[in-house]
Amino acid sequence: MPSAVRAMGSAAVTGRSGVVKFTNCLLVKGADLVQEDLWVSSVTGKILNGQEILYGHLTAPDDIIDLGGRILSPGLIDVQLNGAYGFDFSVIPEDGSIAYGKGVQQVNRNLIRGGVTSYLPTLTSQRTEVYHQALPYLGPSGSTRDPILGSESLGAHCEGPFMSPTKNGIHNASVLQIPQDGIASLAICYGPSNLTQATPIKLVTIAPELPGALSAIQSLASLGIVASIGHSEATYEEAKLGIKAGARSITHLFNAMKPLHHRNPGIFGLLGTASSSISKPYFGIIADGIHIHPTSIKIAYNAHPEGLILVTDAMRLAGMPDGVYDWTNGSRIVKDGALLTLEENGKIAGSSIELIDCVTNFMNWTGASVPMALKAVTETPARMLGLEGVKGSLQEGTDADLVVLDVLEGAVGDDKRVVVDQVWKFGVKVHDR
Ligand SMILES: [Zn+2]
Repeated sequence: MPSAVRAMGSAAVTGRSGVVKFTNCLLVKGADLVQEDLWVSSVTGKILNGQEILYGHLTAPDDIIDLGGRILSPGLIDVQLNGAYGFDFSVIPEDGSIAYGKGVQQVNRNLIRGGVTSYLPTLTSQRTEVYHQALPYLGPSGSTRDPILGSESLGAHCEGPFMSPTKNGIHNASVLQIPQDGIASLAICYGPSNLTQATPIKLVTIAPELPGALSAIQSLASLGIVASIGHSEATYEEAKLGIKAGARSITHLFNAMKPLHHRNPGIFGLLGTASSSISKPYFGIIADGIHIHPTSIKIAYNAHPEGLILVTDAMRLAGMPDGVYDWTNGSRIVKDGALLTLEENGKIAGSSIELIDCVTNFMNWTGASVPMALKAVTETPARMLGLEGVKGSLQEGTDADLVVLDVLEGAVGDDKRVVVDQVWKFGVKVHDR
């Protein structure tokens, strides 16, 4: 029995309404922080219409939560997470796919403590067998609406393997493919049963200049899967064709693509296109202080503020204590905060930043306000995924995935730091710092 139904039954037995009222708080609404109460239902897991409750049905809340003036935001959404808490979504454990499924569930329960209430588990480019085994465990996981399960997958992000061999980044070049036959090539790779209307895939990163890619992008759009341009050598013109075919996003803007050139602005140029010619795409930004210079982030934000989505692109050491960890091929990785380096040569090996720290960095680097920075991890990713009205806002009827935030003084000058104090999933408190 779904937990919402269970909860409804118990509420009827105890005479409790399941209504929770948050008070003495600042709600994130668009560009503003608004002093207002918020009403949610722990029975339906949704945000309620406060006016209707106050003046219509006279329902008394079961619980009144005084937040002492803190910020109440929609839960955070990470659309690019490769792994965390020691688990890598792209690795099937030696004891098989059942162990893999358990690993995913473990990540979900840990991840939510950092305020990430939903996300896209992300697969880097892999051999086809890995997709066939992993994807059945990565589809949307919120149908039971059980807060105990932790963070919710909104579907998998397949980052590759249809990408440019010269922009592969850390992806294994030997597994890359060309989508020669359009969606048929993708179906063979990901598994035909994973590309139906009930697909576990939510987003595919693809290079639009590859043979067959534009036709694949069209088919993905018709399946309700977001096509995102990335790991690509595309010129501005090729990228524009990708958008015209139906791509609506850019994967980690600036990284693994041609840099902006004044005579060929490349993929970045899409942010400067007149909205009358194409709709400007959403774009992911890794605000970890390692991948992109803060000024580049500011330029992209100024070009298209409504499209900016903060992502972690973090890998399996995210959430783990600092230290030295075994890596592939006998090498070892040193984790020092968010920064990961190879022990033998000190080279940067990736990021393990948490999404809330991306929010802090983004605020301090661009001067964006707290609500505007939070928008880049709530409302904007929800819109990109076609989930407006379901996730990412505090509007009535939206899922009551919430975070209580405090804003502290930062390390230097006027810097601020945002910290997660509480996390609520489907109207139930699941974490308190
Ligand atoms: Zn990448």
